[in-house]
Amino acid sequence: MQVPEKDVLLKVENLKMYFPAAKSLFGKTTSCVKAVDNVSFEVEKGKTFGLVGESGCGKTTTGKCILRITNPTEGHIYYKGKDISRASKEEIKSIRREIQLIFQDPYGSLDPRQSAYSIIKEAVVTGKEKYTESEVAARVKELLEIVELLPEMGDRYPHEMSGGQRQRLGIARALACNPELIVCDEPVSALDVSIQAQVINLFQSLQERLGLTYVFIAHDLAVVRHIADVIGVMYLGHIVEIMDAAEIYSNPVHPYTRALLSAVPITDYYVEKSRKRILLEGEVPSPIHAPSGCPFHPRCAYATDVCKAEVPSLTDTGGGHLVACHLSKKN
Ligand code: SF4
Repeated sequence: MQVPEKDVLLKVENLKMYFPAAKSLFGKTTSCVKAVDNVSFEVEKGKTFGLVGESGCGKTTTGKCILRITNPTEGHIYYKGKDISRASKEEIKSIRREIQLIFQDPYGSLDPRQSAYSIIKEAVVTGKEKYTESEVAARVKELLEIVELLPEMGDRYPHEMSGGQRQRLGIARALACNPELIVCDEPVSALDVSIQAQVINLFQSLQERLGLTYVFIAHDLAVVRHIADVIGVMYLGHIVEIMDAAEIYSNPVHPYTRALLSAVPITDYYVEKSRKRILLEGEVPSPIHAPSGCPFHPRCAYATDVCKAEVPSLTDTGGGHLVACHLSKKN
């Protein structure tokens, strides 16, 4: 049987983002923070790629590079087949209409002096489409309806809204330009658990309705597992495992993914009781003095000499399940 060709909307290839940490007397960079180090993945059109990992692992920086908020040090970002990693300012302006960002903290990302109506209107008029005044009003009303906010909410200011309503407003603003790809940076982690579920459901229904593609960044594996089609696990600037979301509970391979999973509570009492929690020893190493070889080796219970010397490459262990671990390599 022939495998259908993937319709890849976004492809990230060997992406590196290094920030200078110290300079010599003559202005030469002497050490740097390797926030993102050789990251590669692709996102199919209409699907969700979940990027998960602890705080400081490089997820947000990867998102910022995709949006070209920061200029990558090395590597390529292909959007619709075109390399946008070195796009000019003018090109970035037009790309930003198609690739939007949803922030973790909707309160911090919304102008407190503007009503919800003005916030959405501002985004509508900066889009590609040219609207008349009455069309703008109709579009704002439509966007409020799409994110399940009542039309009268348009008169409210961000501080008069609940956390969930503010996040819906942030989503409406992101949708104003008819984007194809949305980078969602921890979009539900500041919300109550019950509201989280509602907002996640909204993301899913919008994806079905508008054919959106998401890069969904979160530290909570349970949330990512719920929304993502494919999951990439990041550790210290590296992607250590990429797999189908359906496989995450049944077939996690990398020792770090297994440790992360063991900390996710399971609702089944008996399964939960029989599970063994894998406790990671030590702190996440500094990205300024990243360990040699496998970045996870100082905390890995299975580390050998080869782990300390050689960086494991992301290797297909079967069916597109990619793992960066010397132990997982087929003999
Ligand atoms: Fe552990 Fe070695 Fe695999 Fe790294 S490569 S995760 S140190 S076994």
